[in-house]
Order: sequence, then structure tokens, then C-alpha cells
Amino acid sequence: MSTVPSVAAVNRPAAAFLGAGDTKARQVVEQLVSEGLPVGVLDSADDIEPVLGAIRVLLVDQQIAREADGLKRIASVLCADDVQRLVIVLVHAKITFADRLVLSSLGDLSLCSADSASSVRSRIREWGRDRSLDGHKVLLVEDSKTDAYLATKYMTEMGLQVLHIDRAEQVLGAIDMFRPDLILSDLHLPGCTGDQMVRVLRQDPEVTMPILLLSSESCPEKQLMAMSAGADGFIRKPLKSLPFKRVLKTTLRRSSALQNRMHRDAMTGLLNRQQFDVWLQRAVARRASCCLAVMDVDHFKSVNDRFGHSVGDEVLVRLAKLLEDGLRSTDHSARTGGEEFGVIMYDCTPEAAVGVLDRIRQEFMAVAFSAADEVFHSSVSIGVTLIQGMASEVYQRADSALYKAKKEGRNRIKLAP
Ligand code: GH3
Ligand code: MG
Ligand code: MG
Ligand code: MG
Repeated sequence: MSTVPSVAAVNRPAAAFLGAGDTKARQVVEQLVSEGLPVGVLDSADDIEPVLGAIRVLLVDQQIAREADGLKRIASVLCADDVQRLVIVLVHAKITFADRLVLSSLGDLSLCSADSASSVRSRIREWGRDRSLDGHKVLLVEDSKTDAYLATKYMTEMGLQVLHIDRAEQVLGAIDMFRPDLILSDLHLPGCTGDQMVRVLRQDPEVTMPILLLSSESCPEKQLMAMSAGADGFIRKPLKSLPFKRVLKTTLRRSSALQNRMHRDAMTGLLNRQQFDVWLQRAVARRASCCLAVMDVDHFKSVNDRFGHSVGDEVLVRLAKLLEDGLRSTDHSARTGGEEFGVIMYDCTPEAAVGVLDRIRQEFMAVAFSAADEVFHSSVSIGVTLIQGMASEVYQRADSALYKAKKEGRNRIKLAP
């Protein structure tokens, strides 16, 4: 098949495809390549090993499940290193439990319909988001210096941010201030048992993050009490690097996947409106200078009308990507409605915010989209205001500025007076 390059020909492939002859799966791969996703094609399971280091995603067709030897070979190559990979099975016919059982030997596995390249792309995007642990925050409650030292060391090696406290009564303040993604607590703290600690934490409906307990004993009654109180699991002391990291990784990934589904827009991966409002409320409560921007894609209806909804979706995904790349990682950007976006920028003057966002506006304007043998450009109008006063007032000011930008001819940015 000529349109799909071989892995060797692809510069740093992110994904590879190994098929056992299903043409529908091949077509999806062709489509993905034509859309710019770097996918290389492998001829046999033996070709995986030399390129393994470069591959994060392996696409296989459903047919592979029927080839026991090939499957065994793939499974053994994939577990040769400790790198997590996503295996996507491009499914085109009914897949049975027996098929799935066989395929489960491949590890982190996802099924995608071989009808749609876009579902494969979103699955890869989602997976990337769910698995990234960088910057995740863990609150460590531990009175033993040795265990605290070890746990902190392992977590820092994993790219996690750690806040360590050594007394149970500091925990509520620490949660408020640090907003951890996971709590790791010793089962034996002075003046507080593990199940008491968990019960206190779960009294707050906002404390939904996983709680793992560190314990040197395996008394089933104590564990059961802690689990009934709302703990999510145990890690045995003495702490050992490999099992410690495995449990933490799995727990954080699962909860991060859940958080992403609750708080993010599936198409763009930006925050959804609800979560954006939560951050806006928090920004309102802060004293520092923060800005809100609202933006709306210009004449977007005509993009849909001329090129179809899926091309319209591409335009939205592209703008979201520009926002993600162009803003600081501490800023918040959201898809607040159909073709409407919102941004909160922290510790920055309105003038500085306008500077940054106007650059993003120009970048977006410069993107050449192609559809139906035509090249077209899109644009966005933006309204900016300082976050001051009640959230509803702040929103209204930014919205009025946006309205002004639209009225004055679109494709521009306006600062609220
Ligand atoms: P203006 O410059 O005044 O903002 O014009 P507009 O055409 O962008 O505004 P209008 O509100 O008339 O149209 C917005 C369109 O956005 C209509 C709706 O079908 C489309 N839309 C909303 N959500 C989505 C989506 O998720 N995907 C796509 N492709 N289109 C969407
Ligand atoms: Mg202790
Ligand atoms: Mg609109
Ligand atoms: Mg619009």
C-alpha cells in the first residue's frame, strides 16, 4: 500500500500499524496518515522490536486476534521495557469475549471502530491526557522521617509534586491550599488511626480524590475498616520503588481519566464550562491581578455550511491547540460553548493579556485549513477584562468587549474599559 509509509520512513513515529489483512483497518490508517498523524506500517511482529523505543501507540486490526503466534510475539516484545503503550484494535466486525480475552495479553488496550479515523484520533488524545502524570500533586501525611523521605524521593522521580505534612491535624488546611490529586497517608499517625483519618477527609464532599494508605501490617480488619471509610487501597511498608510507583501510577491514571471526563470537553480537551466557572470563582476570590478573555469564532456557521461539521470541528480543535500552546500551563482555557472559548490568565495585566491573546489570534488567522480542494482561513474575535467584582459582572464586561470586536468588523481583540 503506497500511501502509508513504512515505520523506517516515518520520522520519529508516534504510532505503528500491524495488520493481518483487514482492508478496512488499513483504510483508517491511510486516513490517519493523510491527516498528519505519524503512523508507520509494520510487516510483521518481528519489525516492532527495532522501532519499539519510538512507538507510543500500536494499532492492530481485529484479524490479529486470530493469529495466536503473532499475538504472542507482539505481547512479548511490548513487555520488553517498562514504557506504557496504548494498543488500539481497529474493530470492523463483532468482537467476542474470547477475542477480547486473547487480546488482553497485549496490555493497555482500547477498541475503536474501523469506520472512523476521528474516533482513533480522539482515543489517542484522551489516552495522552489520561496518562500524563507530570505536575500531578500528592499530599503525603507521614510521621516517620524515613518513610516520608523514601516516598517523596520516589514520587519526585515520577514527576509528581509532593507536599509532606507530619501531623494529622494539618491535613485539612493542606488540602485547601495544595488541592492534591491524591492523598497518601500513613495508617498510624499520632492521635489518629487510618480509618479515622479517611472518615474525616470524606466528610467533605469536595474530597473525591483517591486516598491510599501506607501500612506495615496487613491486619485484614483494620484494612476493611479503612476501606469502608472510603480509602482506595494500601501500599505495604517497607516501601519499595517498583511496587510503590506502579500502584501510585495506576491509581493516579484512573482518577485522572475520571477527572478529565468530568471536567473537560471531549472534542478539544479544554475545560468544560462548568469547571471553567469553578476556576473563575476562585480567580475572583484571589487578590492578584488576573484577566478573563472570552472568544468566539467568526462566521463559524458558514464554515459548517460550506465544508461540513467535521471540518468545523477541526477548526475548533486547532484553536484549542493554539490556546494550549500559547498560554502558560498555569492559565485556564475552556470551551464554554459551541464555538466559544474562555481563558483565565493569572498574575497578568490586561495589557499583557491582550498582547498574548492577540498573538494567538494572528496565529489562528494564519492557519491554512484545507477542505473540498479549497484552502480557507478562519478568525476569532476576543473580549478581555480584568477579573474584579462578581463573576457575573466580569463575564458581562468581557462579553460586551467581544460584542464590540464583532461589531467593529470581527478578527480583533477589545479590552473592556
Ligand atoms: P459570528 O461571527 O457572529 O459569531 O457568526 P457565527 O456564524 O460564528 O455565529 P452563529 O452563532 O450564527 O453560529 C455558530 C455556529 O456554530 C452554529 C452551530 O451550528 C456551530 N456549532 C456549535 N457547536 C459546534 C460544534 O461542536 N461543531 C461544529 N462543527 N459546529 C458547531
Ligand atoms: Mg506512623
Ligand atoms: Mg457564538
Ligand atoms: Mg461565532
